Amino acid sequence: MKGKIMPIGVVISGADPLVSLEKVTSFGMSTCQMSIPPEEWWSRERTELIRKKAREKEIKITSLICSFEDEDYQDIPTIKRTVGLVNPATRGKRVLRVLSYSDFALELEVEIIQAHIGFIPENTSGSNYKELVLALQKIADYCKENNQSFTLETGQEKALVLSKFIEDVNRLNLGVNFDPANMLLYDADDPIKALDILGKYVIGVHCKDGKRPERKGELGKEYPLGEGDVGIEKFIDKLKKIGYTGHLTIEREISGQKQIRDILKAKELLQKLLNKE
Ligand code: MG
Repeated sequence: MKGKIMPIGVVISGADPLVSLEKVTSFGMSTCQMSIPPEEWWSRERTELIRKKAREKEIKITSLICSFEDEDYQDIPTIKRTVGLVNPATRGKRVLRVLSYSDFALELEVEIIQAHIGFIPENTSGSNYKELVLALQKIADYCKENNQSFTLETGQEKALVLSKFIEDVNRLNLGVNFDPANMLLYDADDPIKALDILGKYVIGVHCKDGKRPERKGELGKEYPLGEGDVGIEKFIDKLKKIGYTGHLTIEREISGQKQIRDILKAKELLQKLLNKE
């Protein structure tokens, strides 16, 4: 895919969308993924403020990232219990929440909604798996009415488990936001080989790096792009090979000055890799 540049963007907070959009400009970027702003930003007036700022700054918000009340990422068992849509105890309420996120995204003119839905069960004949398929069908159908895609963040399960799940949900507007580092952090799969399986579903990409956990049951550690074990050069080469031409969104899950420095370094690295013949 020589000559086709994948636009470089960044994951930003939705806590104050106007401040975050300024940040995107300060990085010299024109695309971003934003975590869903708190409800006080959902009024027509304030949504228009966000849209206006994005227009002024010529920034495209490529996706909105869902999260849910009481999610906790401290270790694998806690993530299994609290994150996403896999736990039947919280699923119903959270599915309704996603539908309201979809309506907000429509107002904001954002075409993709994405989420960690949690660890997809490997037992595909169990009732929890079947209910999860139904939940995602409901979400995808609702998003379709709003002309949106819904993307699943990779890495909490093996690529084959995720691709089987997508086949079972069987909706064309369901895709993947491919995060190579998550596959290592959750010790789930090989991120480069996983692209062979999931490539056709990739709608978005996180550029993030990390290493596998040292002990079972723990999470691995995130590193600045290029310093973990993803093999970011191979990753970009592979994206080119499969013909991906969408956005590359840098994700660095720390805060403060180090986050800013790491994001700028990541941008420089990606530009170098994209310009390589
Ligand atoms: Mg990610």
